[in-house]
Amino acid sequence: MPSDSNVQALDGREPARLAALARYAILDTPPEQAFDDIARLAMMVCGTQAAAVALVDRDRAWFKAAIGVDARELPRSQAISERILRTRATVVISEMLADPRGAASPLHIGERPVRSFAGAPLLTADDHVLGAVCVADDAPRTLSALQREGLEVLARQAMQLLELRRYAMDQRRQLDERDATAQRVERAHAELEAQHARLLDTARRDQLTGLLNRNALAQLLQDPDQVQRLQSSGYCLILIDVDHFKQVNDRHGHLLGDRALRAVADVVSASVRETDVAVRYGGEEFLVALPRTDLAHATEIAHRIRERVEATALPFVLTVSIGVAPGDPELDRPEQVFDRADQALYRAKASGRNRVVVDDTLRV
Ligand code: GH3
Ligand code: MG
Ligand code: MG
Repeated sequence: MPSDSNVQALDGREPARLAALARYAILDTPPEQAFDDIARLAMMVCGTQAAAVALVDRDRAWFKAAIGVDARELPRSQAISERILRTRATVVISEMLADPRGAASPLHIGERPVRSFAGAPLLTADDHVLGAVCVADDAPRTLSALQREGLEVLARQAMQLLELRRYAMDQRRQLDERDATAQRVERAHAELEAQHARLLDTARRDQLTGLLNRNALAQLLQDPDQVQRLQSSGYCLILIDVDHFKQVNDRHGHLLGDRALRAVADVVSASVRETDVAVRYGGEEFLVALPRTDLAHATEIAHRIRERVEATALPFVLTVSIGVAPGDPELDRPEQVFDRADQALYRAKASGRNRVVVDDTLRV
């Protein structure tokens, strides 16, 4: 609760003054050497037994630094620094017992009550008094002109310290905000890139089976690095065509036909390596490029695919015909290897389907 008498006694600037004080975020902060030093210097300059850097809050005077006195804060109604807020100038009370303006301070120095007091205002650039640099003694005393000036110099220094402290806090906050913004931008950027990658991936994938689609294959063949990777040290192509698939659709419906295609794609995916390239290049036609693979191994994989498709649990028996052809980058281009695999596939169809035929024309 505000101490109404005090607030009313001051002019209407009190809310603005309290707002100004709040901007320094100093109240209830731990002691700091720099403020302790100012109190000590004030004590030395004025030759007193006690000193404080006091800030006048709404209901109390709070000491950022205090030497020689027995409290860290006082109710505002009992604080002598309160008077400095009204006079806005240095206040010197040489003998408190004789002072007509107020009762003695409740503060003690050791066992003895404060008898004399002097305080110079902490004045902001916009003319608010935040508090005071104060000195006190347990005996009556006056300040010389030089001591009084010294106290005022120290009050200005304390104010300077408060400004620096606030500037450092502002800087830190701005840096934190900048960091937070940078992090947000980075996250948004990463999310965009991920979205882009997802989109690209979606465009490259066949919707039904999740295998690469024909576009992806065309793109791959346009990329010399990828072609080089696939061709180096010998490779093989496997072409797979589902047998009598038109009949599957006709007899069991398109939906079940789709399910069968997915099953074939799953068998293909499960039968090849990460580094192999599996593509759905036609309606019920699949291609697998196997880099660094000899013909014997590719043939083995082809047989495995054929067997696994035949063993797939579907409401009907599904089979595939497969053509396998080896590719040698020294001897032929990918299109020629494709043609030979296609011819082998044609022979597999022609010779009864559900079989693997290996191209043997290259080395004849
Ligand atoms: P063959 O043994 O000679 O290969 O005979 P086939 O019936 O498999 O060959 P054909 O080329 O005559 O028929 C292929 C069928 O595949 C025709 C087409 O309707 C079907 N098809 C193509 N794409 C899809 C698809 O995405 N889903 C379904 N359910 N059917 C498809
Ligand atoms: Mg076909
Ligand atoms: Mg077919």
